[in-house]
Amino acid sequence: MFSAIVWSYFCLFEHSFCLHLAQNRIQMFCEKNNDLRDLVAKHPGLQVKHIKNKAYVISGVVFINEKWLRLKLYLPHFPELRDFQVHLQHQLEYKLYNHANLKVQSDSSLEDLLVQLAKMLPAPTVVDNAQSKQQNIYAEILNLHKPQEYRLQLDDRCSRIRFSNFADYDAHYLELELPSLRPLEHSLPDCVSLGEMLATSARSLGDALALYLRLLDELRPFYDSLADIDELCDVLEPSPITTKHNSRVFPLKDRVYLKLTIADPFASYGSMALQIIGPTEEVAQLRHVLSDGLGSWDMELDMHKNLLRIFDLCYFPMRGDLGQMQAASEEDQHCNICYVYRLDTGEVPLVSCDNSRCVLKCHAACLKEWFDTLIDGKTFLEVSFGLCPFCKAKLSTSFAALLKT
Ligand SMILES: [Zn+2]
Ligand SMILES: [Zn+2]
Repeated sequence: MFSAIVWSYFCLFEHSFCLHLAQNRIQMFCEKNNDLRDLVAKHPGLQVKHIKNKAYVISGVVFINEKWLRLKLYLPHFPELRDFQVHLQHQLEYKLYNHANLKVQSDSSLEDLLVQLAKMLPAPTVVDNAQSKQQNIYAEILNLHKPQEYRLQLDDRCSRIRFSNFADYDAHYLELELPSLRPLEHSLPDCVSLGEMLATSARSLGDALALYLRLLDELRPFYDSLADIDELCDVLEPSPITTKHNSRVFPLKDRVYLKLTIADPFASYGSMALQIIGPTEEVAQLRHVLSDGLGSWDMELDMHKNLLRIFDLCYFPMRGDLGQMQAASEEDQHCNICYVYRLDTGEVPLVSCDNSRCVLKCHAACLKEWFDTLIDGKTFLEVSFGLCPFCKAKLSTSFAALLKT
């Protein structure tokens, strides 16, 4: 999305703003030319690129004579301005100027040329709301450029802005539509109503970014809780785990899995739901253990430790702990109905047969499909009953809960 952009704001932020970090590169470009070095130092929104010999391209935005100019200037004989060509953005269009339609004195400096270009643009009017909003956004973007704190990218039409690689939250990102500030993509779980929050409290791009950073701070306990589980449990779903996921499925014991869902990431404990997936009898027993354990939840301990306490475990089983079947490679643990391990939806085979001697292991979705073909299959209070495709024993499972994403 942000890759193939010709020349634009995007280039501007990708390169020119990085220039002051990469001092060596500036010196390489402008070593022989103090004028260019001064220009970049004075106008951090400009990028200078050496093409060959005396040819340079200067592009980006510059604030001059109380106006923001967005331009790309080609100078084939620098420091002379002879044969220059400049594309200047006026409203949404770029206009080309050269010696034929813009007279420049032979001894003019680059700065003079920029001033002259600024004069060609109409003065910003307060009446034109859209334009002033756009101008404000240019100004804000320049202010928001903080390469030590995050990475900032803009698309070529300046209609999308993306913040990513936040200093303390490397995996997070926020992409907004400009100038509406509507979120296009973000790294928070979808249950966080970011769009509404931005609409009610963000009046500027700076507000929107500040709000996002504040949310990341508030969500730290949520991410920390899940990080413990990701590190200390054999998380089977989701895969790969991203910052947007608010649930985890991991093994509790042989053929039994725990699904943890945090419905409201701002209230991790309060909105936590735990679901046990496994053969009917085991689930019935563990459900009692779980409801007793939840009653004595210790707020001093983290989520992972509390879960261990509830199930009276020292640790949750990791791959290889549950005997040969689990130690085998993923291909060997495929679903007995569709012969695939992980479905495109991310699901792995978690459902096993109520008959403890039966080897059936399958995806909930595959078993549901099988049940649907049975004439005597029934569903009662969200629990579906049918016969195992392998041993023909009675099998019951709650697809509603299992297939909920
Ligand atoms: Zn399957
Ligand atoms: Zn069976």
